[in-house]
Amino acid sequence: GPDPDVLAIARRLKTAVKHKILVLSGKGGVGKSTVAAQLSLALSANHSLDVGLLDVDVCGPSAPQMLGVSDEEVRMSNSGWSPVYVEENLGVMSIGFMLPTKDDAIIWRGVRKTGLIKQFLRDVDWGELDYLIVDAPPGTSDEHISLVQMLAESNVDGALIVTTPQEVSLIDVRKEINFCRKSGTRVLGVVENMAGFVCQHCQGCTDIFFPSSGGAERMCKEMDVPYLGKIPLDPSISRAGELGRSVFQEEGNAASPGVGALRKLVA
Ligand code: ADP
Repeated sequence: GPDPDVLAIARRLKTAVKHKILVLSGKGGVGKSTVAAQLSLALSANHSLDVGLLDVDVCGPSAPQMLGVSDEEVRMSNSGWSPVYVEENLGVMSIGFMLPTKDDAIIWRGVRKTGLIKQFLRDVDWGELDYLIVDAPPGTSDEHISLVQMLAESNVDGALIVTTPQEVSLIDVRKEINFCRKSGTRVLGVVENMAGFVCQHCQGCTDIFFPSSGGAERMCKEMDVPYLGKIPLDPSISRAGELGRSVFQEEGNAASPGVGALRKLVA
């Protein structure tokens, strides 16, 4: 029969959390956490929806920093671990909160990592949510695979995949899409991040990466998955991430059509 942990996770998340979205990437450093954090901020803005951000990126948990709560600690209650609240309607739970100091590397063995991911899925007390955004470990690592397996009975809406334009990044995204297909996870779409750089002086857009932006769109056509748009390299996105703020609330962020497209998609 089904794994008792998988059932326990489903009891916690299946109906209490209306929508569950995994944010995935083939590689690290492509902007997966940025998209997950900004998506959570956008969905919860104006107190419209109850949102949770679950950061189980064991390689580099950055949600606390990106939501401006890196000095907070999680607490235990009778009903599980309490998330850290950025706003009344935006909670975050991150492996980053479990580290002794910000600069400690995670050198746990694989078993402990998957164990912790399982605990996070099963024991965090979100209450009722409209959206749970899951910032997943990059690639198709063991941790990543067990994350998807543990959510098998929880009615996950699907995966949002973040990539950069280069072929080296797209190769891993194809693997990721195939993995989603095999595991029965719907691909909600692919976002191309770091797609060119918009010069703040002349407003011209320069492609930084070879072969140039647009690779993700072609790949989406080939693989028959939705293409959601592109996000240029933009100092305001980096700044918002470092300061733990919403990119939508900062001035001069009109140059992020991809983030806008993303928000429209899930709103
Ligand atoms: P990942 O989660 O895939 O490892 P991150 O979201 O942590 O990647 O992004 C890596 C770094 O790149 C961060 O410092 C982030 O602020 C920056 N970054 C991501 N996307 C953009 C962008 N479109 N413009 C500018 N900086 C970006």
